[in-house]
Amino acid sequence: MVPLIALNNGVRIPQLGFGVYQVPEQQVAGAVTTAIEAGYRSIDTAAAYGNESGVGDAIAGVPDLFITTKLWNADQGHDSTLRAFDESMRRLRRDVLDLYLIHWPTPKRDLYAETWRALERLYADGRVRAIGVSNFHTAHLQRLFDEFPTTPAVNQIELHPLLQQEEMRKVHVTHRIVTEAWSPLGQGALLREPDIVGLAEKYGKTPAQIVLRWHVQLGIVVIPKSVTPYRIKENIDIFDFELAQDDMLVITELDNGTRTGPDPDRFNAA
Ligand code: NAD
Repeated sequence: MVPLIALNNGVRIPQLGFGVYQVPEQQVAGAVTTAIEAGYRSIDTAAAYGNESGVGDAIAGVPDLFITTKLWNADQGHDSTLRAFDESMRRLRRDVLDLYLIHWPTPKRDLYAETWRALERLYADGRVRAIGVSNFHTAHLQRLFDEFPTTPAVNQIELHPLLQQEEMRKVHVTHRIVTEAWSPLGQGALLREPDIVGLAEKYGKTPAQIVLRWHVQLGIVVIPKSVTPYRIKENIDIFDFELAQDDMLVITELDNGTRTGPDPDRFNAA
């Protein structure tokens, strides 16, 4: 039901997955199980979310899943990355991960290149099926292009109708990097925008479904988060309708550069 998108190494990622940022460890297994029962096959977590063990509980023994986790900033560096990867895999109880991402470039710390070398090693060793980055801007990507043989398969960036990331999406197309949207719903606030509400009424869908459908029609991979069962189901029920081109453009008009999260050029927390 959910389309698969080919990464630049041929591995295929479901175009819609389930994000678990801010879902507490004790709640996450239930939410992920609800998502799997609703048809989600892709789960997006991170070491920093503190819930990899609970995700591990929910995915144990479930076939055909695509699991993403991310290396936290404090663990950047070659050897520390390899150790952090082992820790994530122990918590998730996976032998092979589907996608491993550098969570933020943290440019001031200047460790992301060394970190990428460790991800290339994990990939060469068959421990992960694809490697990528998150929150990388063009200059950070360019450094990887210049210094390393492997192009990231994915760049997971903040992207929603208020922050459409046109420049980054162009760079990604040029380099065959899949664009993955975090906070695809703008963390919920954007769902009250009158234009989005109007389209929801027109199509007989919810505002969240309109926004997720807009992403999907642009070829973007989305990972909406919810812990509410009916919303978890609602967010995957977007493959039975299509937004007309004029209505896609109504959403394009909403771009005003509003971020919900930090600017990657200035975020150096560890
Ligand atoms: P989101 O845009 O997915 O919004 C989630 C919020 O929207 C929910 O908490 C809920 O309040 C609301 N919501 C969800 N479904 C709804 C519905 N159907 N109707 C009404 N309201 C609804 O925001 P997010 O959680 O920040 O992002 C999604 C995922 O992206 C995260 O869980 C995480 O996996 C990932 N993420 C990654 C980074 C990164 O730095 N790489 C940063 C933030 C999030």
